[in-house]
Amino acid sequence: MKILIINAGSSSLKYQFMESEGGEVFAKGLCERIGIDGRLTHKVPGREDVKLDIPMPTHNEAIQAVLDIMVDPEKGVISSVDEIAAVGHRVLHGGMAFTASCIIDDACIEAIKKCIPLGPLHNPANLMGIEACQKIMPNTPQVAVFDTAFHMTMPPKAYIYAIPYEYYEKDDVRRYGFHGTSHRYVSARAIDMLGNPEHSKVISCHLGNGSSLAAIVDGKVVDTSMGLGPLAGFPMGTRSGDVDATILEYLMGRYNYSIKEMLNILNKKSGVLGISGVSSDFRDLDAAAAEGNQRAQLALDKFIYEVKKYIGAYAAAMGGVDAIIFTAGIGENSMDLRQNICDGLDYMGVKMDAEKNRVRGKEADVSAEDSKVKIFIIPTNEELMIAMDTAELCKK
Ligand code: AMP
Repeated sequence: MKILIINAGSSSLKYQFMESEGGEVFAKGLCERIGIDGRLTHKVPGREDVKLDIPMPTHNEAIQAVLDIMVDPEKGVISSVDEIAAVGHRVLHGGMAFTASCIIDDACIEAIKKCIPLGPLHNPANLMGIEACQKIMPNTPQVAVFDTAFHMTMPPKAYIYAIPYEYYEKDDVRRYGFHGTSHRYVSARAIDMLGNPEHSKVISCHLGNGSSLAAIVDGKVVDTSMGLGPLAGFPMGTRSGDVDATILEYLMGRYNYSIKEMLNILNKKSGVLGISGVSSDFRDLDAAAAEGNQRAQLALDKFIYEVKKYIGAYAAAMGGVDAIIFTAGIGENSMDLRQNICDGLDYMGVKMDAEKNRVRGKEADVSAEDSKVKIFIIPTNEELMIAMDTAELCKK
């Protein structure tokens, strides 16, 4: 089935048009500066990229611009919008309401709206994308795929926070976890690469601009590093990961920060950018560290140390591990980081083959012959997962 995938942000909208079986991508692109002026970048494999300035006061005009370019006789890839069998939307927060993807109807929209307090930045934007598609292509089925859904199998001891229980009961405060679509895709591939055993224990390391780890037993998440929101876990590009809450009170008092300013620091100015003062991009950090920048090296060391700690914690939580997966920008591309994370884990049967590890962006088994634990590099493909879910639900 030919599926249009939409990932709507507040002022941008990414799209990909692809085949759900096999994953062939026909076109993809990005609408930017929605609500400001509007710019469309449209990419078709084997052709030159198209960049157009198109007024986009709202997401409606952005979706219309995407459909117009898709059916354009010269730049397009289809002759009619009817060739789009269904639309799959990436939605950040499904709260406790969604344990799987769902066909978008009134009840689904209401439930996504109820999750706005949990995902205040993303869910309203995701809804704008959904509502624009409903308006412009009312007869095309739409599906919502949630970043949180795959993690909903966590047991209470993993998702409960040690604060008064009433905040869980009354206010839905608990660990949710994110990157679920990515963890789901790569862990399914890993289980396949393990030969589909009856039982499996997998640690999925999604290391990109945002990063999270998930512990997955028999294909089901038992723990993950992000929490109520995507700020939690270990340091990321610009996000702090877990910090002692006392720091907030201390700095807010010292500098008279509002909670909004404090959270902006933790979300946008922290992580490896905050430690290094150089960049949130690991390629810049590698270059700076190679030139002797101590703080860039410290940022890298901190990241590696924290990921290693999570791997140890999850191996303990699961009572062992059969495979460790590296995925996303850093996980797929940075040989040094993968090597450094796995270094010193031989005591738990993790042994990387340095030669095999010299690979970038390709599916590979990089574990040594005598490694008890498989180490896989698996490029993530959230879009394919969304397309597959969308097709499956529409066929039903
Ligand atoms: P993602 O969010 O998955 O797109 O990952 C983006 C991040 O991957 C970038 O910010 C970089 O930090 C990192 N990255 C991409 N390529 C490399 C590379 N060759 N070496 C190290 N880090 C990389």
